[in-house]
Parts: sequence; structure tokens; C-alpha cells
Amino acid sequence: MQYPTPISKLIEGFMKLPGIGPKTASRLAFYVLDMKEDDVLDFAKSLVNAKRDLTYCSICHHITDTDPCIICEDKQRDQSVVCVVQDSKDVMAMEKMREYSGLYHVLHGAISPMDGIGPEDIKIPELIKRLQNDEIQEVIVATNPTIEGEATAMYISRLIKPTGIKVTRIAHGLPIGGDLEYADEVTLSKAIEGRREL
Ligand SMILES: [Zn+2]
Repeated sequence: MQYPTPISKLIEGFMKLPGIGPKTASRLAFYVLDMKEDDVLDFAKSLVNAKRDLTYCSICHHITDTDPCIICEDKQRDQSVVCVVQDSKDVMAMEKMREYSGLYHVLHGAISPMDGIGPEDIKIPELIKRLQNDEIQEVIVATNPTIEGEATAMYISRLIKPTGIKVTRIAHGLPIGGDLEYADEVTLSKAIEGRREL
């Protein structure tokens, strides 16, 4: 059956989201049609605003609506430790744990030769530059425990070691092949505690 164009467009839109197939997309589209007009407008506005008002912190590259972000601006935080993560979602996971009070550096990916992603394609040059200017004494590499995450950790460690800055890697409790953002707070807090020098 052919849907009217506005509905097909809406279904197509939903299908661009991760994990949403044609069935779910049409269920969501028809749900939207049944929603109150004000609610639909609010939802549409929040989609547009999220994209328009959010940017990346020029220091740590975490997603933010102010530049520098509130984490980089917070002088109460330990300025001598930087935790390197793959994704902004990992920063949120770490912050939920409430035990880490240092700074972050978001790579926006991991080194993956198979996908043609090299060190220059993620925020590694920015990390190295940042280490030259600041009084950073320790870099905690909290990339995901996947092949790409481990390769990235090794690469970063080799780059930083000659500078004399301590490089540690989170270790305990994180499942191999798992994603940092899905780790529970206890697991993550144990992982930070059990970090080892690289
Ligand atoms: Zn920042």
C-alpha cells in the first residue's frame, strides 16, 4: 500500500535512526499523527535546537552548549588528570559515576585501519597539542575494550610515554568487546580504580 507523501517522508526520517526498521518506523510515524499538535511542535523544536545550539568544546571536544564546556571551565576539578574517551556518551557515563573529578578528552572514534580511520582522523593530534600546554601529569585511557579501542590505547601510550606523562589504562571489570557507555557505575568505578600503567 502506498502512504500519502507526508507519512512516507516521516517513516523515511525515522528509518534513518539507529536500530529502527520499516515496521517500527511506520508505528512511530502513525503515533506522531495521533499526538497533540503542541506536543509534535515541541518535539520538532527540540530536535532542531539540539542540533543548532550544541557544539563541541574547543578544549576537550565534548558536546556542549557553551565553549569551553562546563567541565573544562570548572577549576575545582583536578587539572592534572585527563581521561581519554571515544565518545561524548562516555563522558556522561563517567560523570554519572561521580568518582572522577579530572578532565576529559573526547576522541570521537577509535583508530581502525579496516575502516580507514587513522590517528589524524580522530582527536589525537589535539590531545598531543593539549598535553604540551597544560600541567597534565596523568592521562587515563578509557577507550572501549574492543580491538579498535585497545589499538588506540596502545598508540596513545606510545606517543605520550616519551613526554614523561604517566599513561594509565582502565582495566578491571569491563567486558571485552563491550561499550563503555553501557557499563554500570560500579563496573566503571572499579575500572578506574584498577587502572594500570601503559
Ligand atoms: Zn571541554
